[in-house]
Amino acid sequence: MTFTPDFERRNRIEQVRLAAFTTMRIGGPATLVTLESRADLAELLGQPHRWLGRGANLLIGDDGVPEPVVRLGESFATLELGEVSGGRARVRVGAAVDLAELIAACVKAGFAGPEGLAGVPATVGGALRMNAGTNTCWMLDWVSRVEVVLPGETEPRWLERAALPAAYRSCGLPHGTLFLGCELELATADPALLKATGTRLKQAKAATQPLALASAGCVFKNPAPTMPAGKLIDDLGLKGEHIGAAEISTVHANFIVNRTRAATCADVVALIRRIRERAWRERGVLLTMEVETWNCPVELHIHPRELAGVGV
Ligand SMILES: Cc1cc2nc3c(=O)[nH]c(=O)nc-3n(C[C@H](O)[C@H](O)[C@H](O)COP(=O)(O)OP(=O)(O)OC[C@H]3O[C@@H](n4cnc5c(N)ncnc54)[C@H](O)[C@@H]3O)c2cc1C
Repeated sequence: MTFTPDFERRNRIEQVRLAAFTTMRIGGPATLVTLESRADLAELLGQPHRWLGRGANLLIGDDGVPEPVVRLGESFATLELGEVSGGRARVRVGAAVDLAELIAACVKAGFAGPEGLAGVPATVGGALRMNAGTNTCWMLDWVSRVEVVLPGETEPRWLERAALPAAYRSCGLPHGTLFLGCELELATADPALLKATGTRLKQAKAATQPLALASAGCVFKNPAPTMPAGKLIDDLGLKGEHIGAAEISTVHANFIVNRTRAATCADVVALIRRIRERAWRERGVLLTMEVETWNCPVELHIHPRELAGVGV
């Protein structure tokens, strides 16, 4: 990976351990680029790279990744609240804005919708990419347009929300799409009511999730709306099982927590393998990853019946 001197002058480039940039506190070395200038997008997109938000949905290998890992800097963290017209308002937000900041601004202005995502740790870009959601709504429910750079292109373009085949935890756009921001179209409501809803959702999360410990949220997608992965793992009697410092949470079985922050990616992978094998063997259920994996063993994504020949 090489950057031109102009690129290096305008953007921050540092050698880091990615563990410091993920909520799981796991991940080996990489080159971290903080992109400050839109003018440098084309140079960056011309070589292999990975996008990083708040690192709240990532499991990264202990050897790190060879490609530059790129965060969007301050110039991508703009937030504009539009005027109210006909009971609706437009909000334009950059991908680097923290989702909590967007929610707080909308609640204060009395713009309804985003408060339904209260307590989801994310940047706006990561929330768009994952179509982050709770049991009341998804990120893309409130979005009217997204600004993206599609794979193979270098110029940003705006896409109407209707063009995105979004689904549960999926924005529907190809892997490698860069989100630069979005526009939301929101109805107005009483700020006090919106605040109360957000507070209630955050309290519910605090009561049911191990928020004091390092994790990447739910490890697996729910196999079906009527079959939460956490309940399945709990029913298999796996709560509290651990490998090294990686433990299946005793609070929410779909979370793996890095109890002392000393767990390795290998520990987490071995635990995931144990869960997937038991779910398949004993319930005939195929658990697939919700957490995104970077440079992790392929076994996380292959069918458990193929795992017999794969060493850990
Ligand atoms: C305690 C806890 C609770 C959670 N609860 C929920 C929940 O209720 N609902 C839920 O949906 N999720 C939940 N999560 C998971 C996480 O919050 C979401 O997946 C969130 O959308 C991740 O956003 P991020 O900015 O951290 O993205 P990252 O984890 O940094 O990245 C996730 C993926 O998005 C890509 N990405 C990041 N930014 C961009 C960008 N600008 N353009 C293109 N791609 C990008 C990355 O390359 C990666 O593939 C939880 C996580 C934790 C730790």
